[in-house]
Order: sequence, then C-alpha cells, then structure tokens
Amino acid sequence: MSLTTVAGDLIFLLLLFSSGAVGIGFSLEDEKAQIDRFQQYLRIQTAHPNPDYAGAVSFLSSQARSIGLKILTLEFTPGKPLLLLSWAGTDPSLPSILLNSHLDSVPADSSHWIHPPFSAYRDSDGRIFARGAQDDKSIAIQYLEALRNLKGRGFSPLRSIHVSLVPDEEIGGADGNEKFVASQEFRMLNVGFVLDEGQASPTDEFRVFYADRLPWSLIVNAVGAPGHGSKMYDGSAAENLMECVEAIVRFRDSQFDLVKAGIRAGSEVISVNPVYLKAGTPTPTGFVMNVQPSEAEAGFDVRLPPTESIDVLRKRINEEWAPISRNMTYQLTQKGPSRDVTGRPLVTPTNASNPWWSVFKQAISASGGKLGKPEILSSTTDARFMRQMGIPTLGFSPMANTPVLLHDHNEFLKDTVFLNGIKVYENLISALSSFHSDVGV
Ligand SMILES: [Zn+2]
Repeated sequence: MSLTTVAGDLIFLLLLFSSGAVGIGFSLEDEKAQIDRFQQYLRIQTAHPNPDYAGAVSFLSSQARSIGLKILTLEFTPGKPLLLLSWAGTDPSLPSILLNSHLDSVPADSSHWIHPPFSAYRDSDGRIFARGAQDDKSIAIQYLEALRNLKGRGFSPLRSIHVSLVPDEEIGGADGNEKFVASQEFRMLNVGFVLDEGQASPTDEFRVFYADRLPWSLIVNAVGAPGHGSKMYDGSAAENLMECVEAIVRFRDSQFDLVKAGIRAGSEVISVNPVYLKAGTPTPTGFVMNVQPSEAEAGFDVRLPPTESIDVLRKRINEEWAPISRNMTYQLTQKGPSRDVTGRPLVTPTNASNPWWSVFKQAISASGGKLGKPEILSSTTDARFMRQMGIPTLGFSPMANTPVLLHDHNEFLKDTVFLNGIKVYENLISALSSFHSDVGV
C-alpha cells in the first residue's frame, strides 16, 4: 500500500467520522451545503400567529426544483398553502409513500433564548438554535436532502414518493392536513404508508410513535338547593362538585402512580386534568360570601390512549364522578374521531400484521440506528388524520442523543444529528419505496 493510498484512506475515514453518519460519509462541502440549507429554512419566520407560509413554500419549492421533484401547491384555505412534492415510481399503480412535515411553528419568546429563535445560530459544539429546529423543520430538509442524494446516485423508486408540507399543524390542522386527507388530490396519491414527525430521544435509541392519545373534554355540572352560608346541609352543589373532584383526583393518582412506578409510559394512561372551576355568586368586587351557590361546574382535559375504552370511562363517570343520584350531569366531548374509516382504532400496528413495520425496522438497523419500544404520543399530531383514513402512519424524527426541546426555549439540533438523519432517511426512503409486497399493500 503506497503512502498516498494510506493518506487517501485516512482522509476518507476522517470525512466519515466527521459526518457522524453511517454508511458512506458526505464530503465536507456537501455537509456545509446541507447545513446551510437547513439554516436558510430555519431563518424563515414560520411561527404563529403569522407564519410566513409564502416564504417557506417559495424556499422549499426552489429546493424541490433543484432536486427535480414535481411541484404542486394546493390551497384549501386562502393564505394557507400546502406544498406537495412528488417523485414518480416505476410502477405508479402501487400504493405510494408519503413523507409529511408541517410548515408552521409555535411562537418563541426571544427574551428567553440565548440566540435569537430565527437566527439558526450554530455554536462551536455544532448546536443549531432555532424555533422549529426539532419541531419539525429538520425533517422537511432531511427528506429533501435524502431525495437529492438518492437522485444523485441514480436511484429509481418502484413506488411513487410524495412529500407534503402542510400548514397549521400547531393550531389543530383543521385548515391543513384535515382538509388535505379529505381532498380528491389526496385520494389520487393512493398513499400506502406515511412517515410523519416524532420526537427527540435523550438516549441513543430513536423513538417511534404508532398512535396519538385521543383528546376529550369533560364538563361536570352540579346543582343543589341554595342556602345561607352558615347552614350545614347535605347535597349542596359545591359539595357535590367537590366529591366529584375528589373522585377524579383519586383516579388521576392511580394513573399517575403507574407512570411513577415505571409500569406505564405517561402516554399509556388516561390523564384527567382540571382546567377550570366555576361556582359562586359574583359581586362587582368578588363573590357573595354568605350564600352557598345552587350551581357549580368544573372542566377537565381528558386524554385517552386509543387502546382504552371510552365506555369504561363513561361508566365510571356515571357511577362515581357525576352520578345522577347526586344531581349531577356531564358532557363528555370528543375532539376528533377515535376510529378510522373502517371502524378500527387509530393505531398503526407495530407487529407482523403490518408489513410496512418490518421494512421500517430493517431500514433503521441497516442505517446503524437503534429503535426504542414503539410509543403512543401524549399529545396529537397530523398523523391522526392519516390514520383516520386507514393508512399506516409512524411518527419518527431521527434525533437520538438529543434533549426533547419541542415548544421549549432554546430549541436546537446538533449538526451531526441532522446530517446523520439524512442518511437514515436515505435508507428508509429507498427501502420503503422499493418494497415489493405480495400481500397487496
Ligand atoms: Zn410538530
């Protein structure tokens, strides 16, 4: 082996390690360009209440053009564009792969940040600070960079690949993904499998989410005879409501104990958290202090894992929390459906019954990554709209060894983690889009 070959190998190894990536490393020039494009996207002000959707769509469209993707801008609500990018597969009759990311971000209070939230400042440790660095502008650029690399390598997908960049996820998605999945344009895509956003993982295992908890709201009303403040009597409205609150607190503790004991994850229990209490007879300066009110009301945010039955909870409310025998009524309101169009729970199976799951899992290990136990997400994302259509959808953002900073001050993503994520998506996208199924998916 000549000296020059050794030197060449050394340079290659250095590049490989400096990229933090698995498989073939990027050149330093490639890395710089990829990080630069990530920073450019992060600098677009996409926070509510006035996200710059036009700026984001224009930037992402120019990237898609440079990669050679087909570009379509949809607008289901004026001023709220949805960008749809496509790479046609060699067999467009097969169900396609959809990669989803939202364009918008939650607000950021710059007074709490060490670097301005839309500066995308990269410090000496490689941490890139920006609102959206984790949630979820990173995956949008990683999707695109992975597609750019695959195109550059001459890869040809069997199944069509689509990227949807959608508005309004952070405010419920009613004018974004909810309208998109109901549209003719979406139906035409014939989507077979979706990757959507996940969350950072403080360990070296990637996290993957197969369901969102379902949000409900519970309002309990108690009535009783009004009375003088001094009078002791049974069944006053406030007393009935307090008994209800006590019963809910006991239930809440029992669920919380399972989490504290490590038996269940926080997202695998039913949470019932008080959000308001309403009672009393108001005066211009406060409340009448010698009258026991005839009505009292409390509101609760209820989150239910899709594996739990709402009927069991309803029985508990009827019997223990708000029994009619204590003059109580309640409204339990679901904020979105709990079943998909075929009547199944909104859960993407992570077992042999879902052929996409094994393709996903194998692609992660092929990229050198480790996968944690599949989780239910505590909150909700746009993934629920796709699951509602009966389409298997996994929430996944390749951010291992990263503190969970979504919606937090000083949100950042390390450059090496970002670059490694591109490699992970290259593996995922090539495996998923090449998947030849004999079970008709
Ligand atoms: Zn998000």
